[in-house]
Amino acid sequence: MGNHALLKQINKLLILKTILDNKMISRAKISRLVDLNKATVSNLTDELIKEGYIVEKGYGKSKGGRRPVLLQVNKDVGSIIGIDLGVDYIHVILSNFIGEIIFEEYVNIKMEEPKEKLLNLLFDMIEKAIDKAPPTPKGILGIGIGVPGIVEKESGIVLIAPNLKWKNVHLKSIIEQRFNLPVYIDNEANAGALGEKWFGEWGKVSDLIYLSVGIGLGAGIIIDNKLFRGAAGFAGEVGHTTINFQDDVCSCGNIGCLENFASERALLSVIKKLVKEGAEDRYISCENVDEITPSQIIQAAMDGSRICRMAVLEVAEKMAIGIANLVNIFNPEIVIVGNKASFFGDLFLEKLREVVNQKSFIAQFYDLKIEVSKLKDRAVVLGCIAMVISDMLSFPEYV
Ligand SMILES: [Zn+2]
Repeated sequence: MGNHALLKQINKLLILKTILDNKMISRAKISRLVDLNKATVSNLTDELIKEGYIVEKGYGKSKGGRRPVLLQVNKDVGSIIGIDLGVDYIHVILSNFIGEIIFEEYVNIKMEEPKEKLLNLLFDMIEKAIDKAPPTPKGILGIGIGVPGIVEKESGIVLIAPNLKWKNVHLKSIIEQRFNLPVYIDNEANAGALGEKWFGEWGKVSDLIYLSVGIGLGAGIIIDNKLFRGAAGFAGEVGHTTINFQDDVCSCGNIGCLENFASERALLSVIKKLVKEGAEDRYISCENVDEITPSQIIQAAMDGSRICRMAVLEVAEKMAIGIANLVNIFNPEIVIVGNKASFFGDLFLEKLREVVNQKSFIAQFYDLKIEVSKLKDRAVVLGCIAMVISDMLSFPEYV
């Protein structure tokens, strides 16, 4: 695409996103908000109307003269499928064009299932979502997938997903061939950051870090309204930053990675360590420690288990060290912890805030917000919807 055509697509997406954010808006107001002249806005909105993405809907208030026509995104122009391919779950949603969920399915899976089995389950879930799609002018516009690993975005190849034990999986072409629909793939934490930016209701935030806490730990970093990808597109692997020199080997092959201390997996290993050292209470002992799940640990911590509380606080403290490092480097307005950490509770969040503020050199000098995702475990799937919309309009990552 030439520079001119690309610029036009960017502006078109910017206008579409402005209409999406404002629900109903006039051309004149769009022109003021996006800083484009009225003629350009008028041309591009006409194209968007012709293509079916937006509609004229009623009139706004007049300040003398004709009342302005209001524009709205046509939410029923088509459906989109968003997929969060977790390490121990697959989460699929079908949404309309403005991210309202029409159908949703969440399936827990065993860790380290063979790739073929996982792909077959994924196929079944996509098929089900396609079956649930209502009739719309454009049908299914695309499938967005968030993957827990390093992804080559253009080719859609998952170079490595250590916790899935995947290497060089041509996921985009596998799904495209199977369903004959456009497929867009990204790292799941990047998708989560996009989800927070588009749908998280944080107001006008231009610099945010989304931390996806599950079996592993990853970050999606948005700087100046744009996903920060780095030279090769692999930035944000905070889970594999080294914070210890003498720990077990991580799934990535290195020693002492943060995600071994700050993730769901870490929560389980801290509990095991405490029980092994002789700790027990009426919630946890050597009898049940091997079967306990992260969500049961969180629940027990809330119900009064001293040991589970200690484990939650320990994981929060280590995660806070990782966050403090990120804050020092990127100076974000807000850090949002999401995915499974959205359910870790107030105890966890309070400890996180306390330690980040203590450890981050710069946090004391500005109003840093550390929050739990309001989208809970839907940030990634909704980010995948945003990914399809923005990639479809030929300019990936612009938020
Ligand atoms: Zn690692």
